Parts: sequence; C-alpha cells; structure tokens
Amino acid sequence: MSTDIEITSLSDWIFTDGKPLVIAGPCSAESEDQLLQTAREIAKIPQVQVFRSGLWKPRTRPGEFEGVGQKGLKWLQKVKQETGLKLAIEVAKPEHVEKTLEHGIDIIWLGARTVVNPFSVQEIAEALKGNDIPVLVKNPINPDLNLWVGAIERIHAVGIKKMAAVHRGFHYFERSPFRNAPMWEIPIELKRIAPSLPIITDPSHICGNTEMIPSISQKALDFEMDGLMIESHFDPTRALTDASQQLRPKSLGILLNDLVIREKSIDTEFYSKFEELRTEIDKLDGELLQILASRLKIIDEIGQFKKENHITILQMKRWVGILEDRMAQGTHLGLKKDFLQSLLALIHEESIQRQSDIFTESKKKKR
Ligand code: PEP
Ligand code: MN
Repeated sequence: MSTDIEITSLSDWIFTDGKPLVIAGPCSAESEDQLLQTAREIAKIPQVQVFRSGLWKPRTRPGEFEGVGQKGLKWLQKVKQETGLKLAIEVAKPEHVEKTLEHGIDIIWLGARTVVNPFSVQEIAEALKGNDIPVLVKNPINPDLNLWVGAIERIHAVGIKKMAAVHRGFHYFERSPFRNAPMWEIPIELKRIAPSLPIITDPSHICGNTEMIPSISQKALDFEMDGLMIESHFDPTRALTDASQQLRPKSLGILLNDLVIREKSIDTEFYSKFEELRTEIDKLDGELLQILASRLKIIDEIGQFKKENHITILQMKRWVGILEDRMAQGTHLGLKKDFLQSLLALIHEESIQRQSDIFTESKKKKR
C-alpha cells in the first residue's frame, strides 16, 4: 500500500520544543466547573500543550450520557482564556465542524466510530474545505489500515495539511488485557507509508484502565510515536464516561515526568555495532526466505504427486505429526509456543493453497 499525502510538520502548527505532543483532558465535558477544575490542574503540567474533551459523545447504547453538546464550547473558551491551553474536541458531523470553527477551537479530531464510515468522513471533509485547522484522525475501530489511510486522504484532499493520526487501538475478537488491542504493527506500517504524518498514541482507549497507561505511553515513545493523548479528570470516580481509564491530573504529571524520551537516531559510538547486527539480520532474513522458497518448491512437487495419484490435499495425520514435531523442536530452541503455532499455521495455509492451485489448474486444463 502507498499514499502520497504530504503533511506540514508538527512543529509548524504547535510548539513542542522537539518533545512529544501531549494532549490531555477529560473524556467528556460534563460541566463548566468540571472543565475548569481539571484544566487548572492540567495547566500546571509543563509537558501538556493541548486540552481535550468530548462535547458530542458517540455512545454504544441510546439513553447513555451523550455529551453536553454546543454549550460546552463556551466553557472551553473560558478554559483557554484562563489557562492558555490549546483546545481539541471531537467532531462527528458537519454541524459540529461549523460550531467548532465559530468558537476558536484549535484542533479537531475524528473519532474511531466516525472513521469507519467513509460517508461521514467525506461530509466532515467537505465542511472543512477552505479552513486550515489541524485535524487528527483516530484509527477506525477495526484493524483496517486502508480505512484509516482513506479517512486521512479524504481530509487531506480538501486542503487540510496540518494533520496527525491518533492510534487508539483496535477492537479484537480474542481476549486481551486491553480494551482495544494496540497492534503496533499497524501504526508502524502507517509511519512507513506516510513518513511525514505524525502519529499520536491514545493509551487511555487502548488500555481501558489506568494501570497500564504508563507502560503503553512509554512503548509509544519507544516506537517513535510523536505524541500522546491521555484522558484526565479532576475526579475520575465521578466521570460520566470512561471513568476507569481517566487519570487524576496529579498522576498524569507523575507519568509524564517518568517517561524516558530516547534518542531517535543512534549515537555514533554504537552505530557500527548496530550496523553489524542489522547486516546479520539482513543476511538471516535472506536465508529464511530462501529456505521458505525451497520448502514451497517441494510442496509443489508433492502437490503434483498427489494430483497424479488421486490423493487428497489435506493429509491430517501427517499435519498433526508435523505440528507435534516442529512445536517440540521450536520450543526446545527457545521459540514461544504462540509464535510457533502462528508461524506453522501460516506455512501450512500457504502449502494447502498452493496445492489447491495445482489441483484447479489441472482441472482448468482438462476443460
Ligand atoms: C474519545 O476520545 O473519548 C473517544 C470517544 O475515542 P474513540 O473515538 O477513540 O473511541
Ligand atoms: Mn473516552
């Protein structure tokens, strides 16, 4: 996959002094008092540049707190006046964009539930035409990089050049300790295909609890993400939404102080050692691919043999035997069971697919 979006550098629209951009604030705006109390405490944390809060809340079930709506915009203006923090809110409809632009909001974001729907994204994009407000695009709920990139491209296509992606984790069908599995490979791939696009990680929605937020925040920085969006409420026990994942501003300050910001480029002293190790990895990867290709070549020969002798593709007994043997060998070598299982399943899947192609090929020829 590729994309040719060119994004204005983060430092051109927000002053971060080369440090990660930190956006913090409550999940939802609940009252003027709640916003001001939270913002006053957050403003004391030097690492935080932007105050977030949701005015229109997309809720899974009707009847739940759906946000205070438009009246919160005035409260946010007070927050900005008093604290000097920049403001960021979520928009889900063209009307939200209109109101937001009227009230001097600095940054807007599209939420995970909006990004899954290209019609909604396009409507928001149209409403943004002619403006240059920075726009953040959260990842869609499902782990679909294309859908995420598509939303970014739609916003970018109307002339918005100050953009960032927000990595808030993905709904995953298997049980996991996270509310939304981080699946780091997806934002990392986004970084590869759109190198100028900053990515901000949202550990609150990834974790769904406060305990894991510090380690996910550190991981985000270690994966060279460009910032963090963290939910914070002056009294999370009273929060009307996402109560379990909001930090008190004091804990947020401690977390941000404890984060280690590592160098992105490697010190020259260690550079040659790194290069040596990387060369070794390149060589091993080459060998690995060569071995896989040789294995698949033999699989093709076996497929041909099965076809000629009218034997079925799937030989269950043989596959069970292989699995047992390779699992034993692999674990003996120190490879993790889960990793081995996935790897062997992938190899087996490809082998079956190739043999099945050989079978259908012969059928086509006969017709
Ligand atoms: C939020 O930021 O409060 C929110 C609703 O997030 P998401 O769209 O990531 O679920
Ligand atoms: Mn939330």
